[in-house]
Amino acid sequence: MNPSRAHETLFHVFGYTGFRGPQEAIVEHVAAGGDALVLMPTGGGKSLCYQIPALLRPGVAIVVSPLIALMQDQVSALKEVGVAADFLNSTLSFDRAMEIERAMLAGALDLLYVAPERLVTPRFLDLLDHLNEAGQLALFAIDEAHCVSQWGHDFRPEYLQLSILQERYPQIPRIALTATADAQTRHEIAERLRLQDAREFVSSFDRPNIRYTIVPKDNPRAQLLAFIRDGHLGEAGIVYCSSRKKVDETAAWLIEKGIAALPYHAGMNTEERAANQDRFLREDGIVMVATVAFGMGIDKPDVRFVAHLDLPRSIEGYYQETGRAGRDGLPAEAWMAYSVADLVQQRRFIDQGEAGAEVKRVATAKLDALLGLCETTGCRRQRLLGYFDEAAEPCGNCDTCLHPPQVRDATESARKALSCVFRTGSRFGAGHIVDVLTGKATDKVKEWQHDQVSTFGIGTELDDKGWRTLIRQLVAHGALAVDHERYGALTLTESARPLLRGEAAFTMRLDVVAPKKGRNVGSA
Ligand code: ADP
Ligand code: ZN
Repeated sequence: MNPSRAHETLFHVFGYTGFRGPQEAIVEHVAAGGDALVLMPTGGGKSLCYQIPALLRPGVAIVVSPLIALMQDQVSALKEVGVAADFLNSTLSFDRAMEIERAMLAGALDLLYVAPERLVTPRFLDLLDHLNEAGQLALFAIDEAHCVSQWGHDFRPEYLQLSILQERYPQIPRIALTATADAQTRHEIAERLRLQDAREFVSSFDRPNIRYTIVPKDNPRAQLLAFIRDGHLGEAGIVYCSSRKKVDETAAWLIEKGIAALPYHAGMNTEERAANQDRFLREDGIVMVATVAFGMGIDKPDVRFVAHLDLPRSIEGYYQETGRAGRDGLPAEAWMAYSVADLVQQRRFIDQGEAGAEVKRVATAKLDALLGLCETTGCRRQRLLGYFDEAAEPCGNCDTCLHPPQVRDATESARKALSCVFRTGSRFGAGHIVDVLTGKATDKVKEWQHDQVSTFGIGTELDDKGWRTLIRQLVAHGALAVDHERYGALTLTESARPLLRGEAAFTMRLDVVAPKKGRNVGSA
């Protein structure tokens, strides 16, 4: 095909003078009939990658989209620039849906957005058959393709049925698009949507304007408030919490402290949720306190910070959620407070879930990778991008680059901690182990006669907090495991062996509170 037609469409229809990044290559590939798997960060410009081929190829392009709001936004934007686009979803009356179907069959539509559950109905497939026979199917675009992944929290079972497109219409080009790009998800998309032979287009996932900071949880609310007051007062932000209760409590508390906060979670009724979302989008400086139910399809360019009071489930989750900050390209911050208690809770969710052993194994591995990001002494961005197989230099715009963490050799201390866990029978949590190491003869210590074990009181080199930090890092390192079936009891793993035998060294990262940015943050 003639590439200048793509440029012409880009300019005359959308008013843009040039393609961004890989857009042009994608457009040409799909317009020429090729299949594509597009991995591009949020805000990267995925829509044009199928909208322009839709206009260049004869017939109608079918766009599968998981969210009604997303469809409506896209369609009205397209209509505004004069493109014949429409959508079919459950919000339409029967008559209106009929009308759209007729328009599509008559060749009057360039793009039709449709929900996945609708697409796979016999009725809709029948329509597609007609179009196909008439040579009037331009392409299939599958937006938010990571919804096919069972590991992610956006999983939509109906997406699994989309493989039918390849079986039924093998000649029609398909393009799947997502902003989630770890190897596992990529592989799943390719396999489940039968896109193994599709060309992959992977953009850089770096969001250079986002500054990453991850702090150990101490007094999380006060830490959050200090973070907001330190440069984000009056700015729009999102605070993610893991439970509805915590969302409500945190929002109420922030309001009490004078922050314009609103709650959002799936337990609220639809009107309340819609009203809060609306205020967040329209008013300035609202802080949305939310569960992960909030976010997908929210296109607010000036979100200045995303804070996590609880660990997400994976690096992809973290990346997607933090990616909602700074879509306008201006400086933004991603801030997270985390603790081993979070980790224990997440592992409990995984282990107690209904999923099979393999699913649990993958979920645990994803959580471990996230923990690695939290505990790294190197550049956070490098680690984050490395997870998506993207190489990067230390960024100079994350907490570890800006305030390199102090590290110390803690091999000896690590051995003490590990052997203390062992000597006390691998059945106690961190608090008790620290008491034994630091020689505190608490009732529990006496009851178990742990003041008699050889590791009692040998940990003079660190204080309580230091030992807790070390234990947390041993968990992150994998030398200690947390057994939540037994109330967070610490147990040794295989990786503890080389440490105990003196065959491996252990470097500990000291917890330091990052210096303030020069403003008095006031009291919490
Ligand atoms: P994504 O779906 O990847 O999050 P969008 O397709 O919504 O991103 O595009 C993000 C923004 O970038 C939109 O406002 C879009 O109009 C704009 N955009 C996309 N491609 C270009 C381009 N080639 N030139 C200028 N603006 C673009
Ligand atoms: Zn960095």
